Amino acid sequence: MRVGVVGVQGGVAEHINMFKRAFIEVGIRGDVIILKEPKEMEKIDAIVIPGGESTTIGSLMMKTGLLNAVKKAVEGGIPIMGTCAGAVMMAKSIKAGKDTQPILGVMDIEVSRNYFGRQRESFEMDLMLEGMDRPFKGIFIRAPAITRTWDDARPIGMAKGVIVAAVQRKMLATVFHPELSGDPRLHTYFIKMIS
Ligand code: GLN
Repeated sequence: MRVGVVGVQGGVAEHINMFKRAFIEVGIRGDVIILKEPKEMEKIDAIVIPGGESTTIGSLMMKTGLLNAVKKAVEGGIPIMGTCAGAVMMAKSIKAGKDTQPILGVMDIEVSRNYFGRQRESFEMDLMLEGMDRPFKGIFIRAPAITRTWDDARPIGMAKGVIVAAVQRKMLATVFHPELSGDPRLHTYFIKMIS
């Protein structure tokens, strides 16, 4: 299995390291590359959009042609994982967004950007996630919330009254940063979910 991490902006290296660990944990041969151009899409079996700034990621992906290429590939069934800004990129709907920003719009979730407000822009919180027998340390950095899911998208984790992780078919979105927690369980969850 080869995973491509969209490498235009944000926490790219952290996801690469975490996938390397996760492949070993799951015990499969895996490889992870940085995805910068549409032509590299041919080489991969899954896509990751890291955290960062979704407006920047979106406009750079548009410039490189990756936005359309990734959207088409995901609509054709290629698995995708997005964290924080990556979850914003995946959402079909952004709540109360005055400005329009380029997104993939592939997952049946609604997000509200920077949901947790200024005073608590960044925080950590133990999360109980579906299928996990002990808490997962959620690291939230100017995180969005998932305010709604529909069709076959469904929550796998809640915090502070909102959805913080959701899945749909071969898509996984988290509003926190599993690539920063030193815990590969969400990356192994994704690998198992798609293999
Ligand atoms: N607030 C950012 C956005 O909406 C996301 C922050 C992050 O990825 N840590 O794009």
